[in-house]
Amino acid sequence: RLYGDSRTNSAGVDLSQVSVRERLAAEQAKLDAQLPLPAGPVVRGKMQVSDPYKHASPVNQHNVVSLISNATDDHIDDAFEAARAAQRGWDELGGARRAEILRAMGDALEAETDRLIAIMTREGGKNLPDGVAEVREAVDFCRYYAAEAERKFAGPVRLPGPAGETNHLELRGRGVFVCISPWNFPLAIFTGQLAAALAAGNTVLAKPAEQTPLIACEAVKLFQEAGLPKDVLHLITGDGRAGAALVNDLRTGGVCFTGSTEVARIINKALSEKDGPIVPFIAETGGLNGMFVDTSALKEQVIDDAILSAFGSAGQRCSALRILFLPEDTADGFIEGLIGAMDALALGDPAEAFTDVGPVIDEEAKGILDQHMTRMRVNAKVLKQADPGPLADNGFFFAPALIEIPSLDLMEREVFGPILHVLRYKRKDVGKIARELAAKGYGLTLGIHSRLSRFHEEIMAEVPAGNVYVNRNITGAVVGVQPFGGEGLSGTGPKAGGPHYLARFATERTVTVNI
Ligand code: GLU
Repeated sequence: RLYGDSRTNSAGVDLSQVSVRERLAAEQAKLDAQLPLPAGPVVRGKMQVSDPYKHASPVNQHNVVSLISNATDDHIDDAFEAARAAQRGWDELGGARRAEILRAMGDALEAETDRLIAIMTREGGKNLPDGVAEVREAVDFCRYYAAEAERKFAGPVRLPGPAGETNHLELRGRGVFVCISPWNFPLAIFTGQLAAALAAGNTVLAKPAEQTPLIACEAVKLFQEAGLPKDVLHLITGDGRAGAALVNDLRTGGVCFTGSTEVARIINKALSEKDGPIVPFIAETGGLNGMFVDTSALKEQVIDDAILSAFGSAGQRCSALRILFLPEDTADGFIEGLIGAMDALALGDPAEAFTDVGPVIDEEAKGILDQHMTRMRVNAKVLKQADPGPLADNGFFFAPALIEIPSLDLMEREVFGPILHVLRYKRKDVGKIARELAAKGYGLTLGIHSRLSRFHEEIMAEVPAGNVYVNRNITGAVVGVQPFGGEGLSGTGPKAGGPHYLARFATERTVTVNI
């Protein structure tokens, strides 16, 4: 049975059209002339400014993108009070009315696609195809959760019972949800989290990543213009300290987090140790994602899909491909093809039309990648890494790298950037290698390239993964089509953009009446 609705996903814009590219370039120039823009906490509908500091673009450290004010303790306190007072009314509006507002929010984002893309190229270093996909995903989240709110939050459902008794079950909002989102999807995941929490009848305190508050401010402004009541959503800017203040507050009714496995553990611990109600924790974290190729796979397809999965978004997706498993009989040909394809990747300014790989997010991220390369030069074989050239003088550019590893022993944790590892395997050992990968504890995405269903089944039986992709790339899950999220070290579930997501943001009440 097909689980769907009449909703269609956002169409985005067509970058193959010269006129579209010109339009985006004009919008970029317009935005650049306005930068830097203020980015700060938005409480009770107003942006607060306190002690702003300059934040530069990862593309070029000389370009200041925003003047950031971090939320103070008073802002956080005031936001909680306002959100708590507004929650009951928001919940009582009902799923259908909330859905209308969510759709208006999606429409508002879609109408501002060009500007949102321009902000993300500067603030997040996103290239144009990623920018287009990101706005589409944010719009889709609003519309998908709107449809889900109508379906699941339409009022009590009647349940069977004995004569003389009626039984009803109803989903309601839990209270004030804290949503903590990452810089790698600063619009899509930011919007997805808060749209889900709002759809389920919660009010929200949303904390964007400290690297990308500007796009979040822009989105909040659009949501309010679209009719979202100002006390229902508040924006809390800041670093991990602000996140900790939100998580530890006794007024928090639940936490939705996307980011690293390490931070998820810290939040989990804090929630388990604090007083007050026991609240749900929804975490979407890292991955150590593999793609298994057998000798029946089509070489060109594997190369295309591996390149896109490993180096798209400069490898800064939790779904990205980290380890490509190649059968030893054909590995040389695949590696040669990968190196050739890497030669053709354009590293550069993400606002330019044909840039494949932009910068990584900041100095710390680049430092971790450099350290990993140093370690790999000693313990493995670096097959390719180009020099990023003068780009790296001003921006955090890291050229895609290909490394052959002798075993999985060197791969303990996720390394977040454009580094692909290959491992040759003997056919008879594939089960053992798959189990070794499984033993690392992650479970996010898994790729399989093979024409043989037995091979698919063999790998799937061994490697845990929330999202399995056969004979295609392993990134870019589509809302309502590939619900996204992992297990183990990769997260708690439920899956974003899937039919079970909203229920975790809700509480349930059963009412039994003896007539
Ligand atoms: N949903 C994204 C994808 O399918 C990844 C999200 C993330 O990196 O956090 O590629």
